[in-house]
Amino acid sequence: MLNKNDHPLFDLIAFDADDTLWHTERLYLEALDTLIKVIPTPMTVKELERYLYQKETININLYGYGIKSYTLSMIETAIELGGDSLKAGQIRQILELGKGMLGAQIQLLPHVEETLQALQMRYNLMVITKGELLEQEAKLKRSGVAGYFRSYEVVSVKNQATYHTLLQRHGVEPQRFLMIGNSLKSDILPVLELGGHALHIPYEITWAHELVNEPLTVAYYELEHIGQLPGWLEMLEQNESNNPKTV
Ligand SMILES: [Mg+2]
Repeated sequence: MLNKNDHPLFDLIAFDADDTLWHTERLYLEALDTLIKVIPTPMTVKELERYLYQKETININLYGYGIKSYTLSMIETAIELGGDSLKAGQIRQILELGKGMLGAQIQLLPHVEETLQALQMRYNLMVITKGELLEQEAKLKRSGVAGYFRSYEVVSVKNQATYHTLLQRHGVEPQRFLMIGNSLKSDILPVLELGGHALHIPYEITWAHELVNEPLTVAYYELEHIGQLPGWLEMLEQNESNNPKTV
């Protein structure tokens, strides 16, 4: 058990939300299966996925991340593929698909609640999530785990400058900060570049926009699932008390 009287190893532990605390990517994959039935196209699901990905890549710069942006990309794709034969009813079906995604039940990943419960007394926990403010706030509220976090931040992009600004705002030194997430690109690399600590917990699927193209040359922590986190932190704290310079 972690000793609550000792000084904790980190002043702030932040969690990514989508595909770290709850399932998200699978919602987008399910939407594709519906979309292919709505859009009049001879494409396979894989081909449609690739086409939509190109649209999203352009549109993320205009609309940002999230389901609203994705819905606009689905409509744009339908118009381009369907041409003048596309009917208002088909656009309506896509809008309903997007609204369904926005209202979908939040499915926490295994061990999330028990882990947050175990850590909340000792650590200052926070959510740092990328996306649209209203959408991410609503998901956090519906998740049932909002109460374990002392604060949350919704940002449009997670890069080194974003983390620098956030840590300054919260008065936390990078060396005293641990970020946990499923994306090497957004949750791990920028935090390491800043001099912080980062723990990668991979999800079963990585969204194409979050893939890292170059081989990684930096060392980072990795666990199989979030349920291993309390034990891992305990081990780190024990190492630290034996040798204060190892972390
Ligand atoms: Mg994520």
